[in-house]
Amino acid sequence: MNNTFTNHSYNCMFCGEELEYLQEYKDVECLYCHEKFQSNVTCKSGHYVCDSCHSMSGIDLIEKYCKETTKTNPIEMAIELMKSPSIHMHGPEHHYLVPAVLISSYYNLKKDYKTKIKKLAVAKKRAKDVPGGICGFNGNCGAAVGTGIYMSVITEATPLTKESWGLANMMTGTTLIAIAKRGGPRCCKRNSFIAIRNAAKFTEENIGIKLYDYRKGKPKCTFKSKNKECIGNQCPFN
Ligand SMILES: [Zn+2]
Ligand SMILES: [Zn+2]
Repeated sequence: MNNTFTNHSYNCMFCGEELEYLQEYKDVECLYCHEKFQSNVTCKSGHYVCDSCHSMSGIDLIEKYCKETTKTNPIEMAIELMKSPSIHMHGPEHHYLVPAVLISSYYNLKKDYKTKIKKLAVAKKRAKDVPGGICGFNGNCGAAVGTGIYMSVITEATPLTKESWGLANMMTGTTLIAIAKRGGPRCCKRNSFIAIRNAAKFTEENIGIKLYDYRKGKPKCTFKSKNKECIGNQCPFN
């Protein structure tokens, strides 16, 4: 299949480098779905994103990427996804992004890819019920709810379970407090990073599985120029 970068400007959406247009087609692999293509357009670092992944909705791209990836660091996954134009600076797709990368990290560590795919679909359905703006309007940031969805999905909590019910609600609660302490205005990047870090800490302490080393440095935000409400120096990821 031949493919070119189409609906975006002249630089690589992934790393910002210039695109190179070659005379000959070469074998490339899409960064998001890992399918193989033939293309004569990549960036100087060789990054390639197929047309299908380019035009997918944010929610579908998150699911597709998470199904295919074998990475285990959820922050790394989140940043790769956030670089796609399908994931807006702010938006309810982050309510799925957070549980999706956490579920992927958890099951990729176990090498249980079959269960991962099932759980990603369950989380997607639940995350779609968490609307945009819920942070300010309901006092319940969707990135925090996303960590509760993650915990509920991996422990198979229901309204009738005991321990897992407690864990899922505690997961949302502790994330919400961590997010609330920073105050507003909302930033879906800042709050997703806080949510993922808190979920990794909580998973290590309560489930005994280390998703990644959250103590080692914080991710450096590369999205601040797109956020007119960025809190600048007060952001822990600045
Ligand atoms: Zn690139
Ligand atoms: Zn693709």
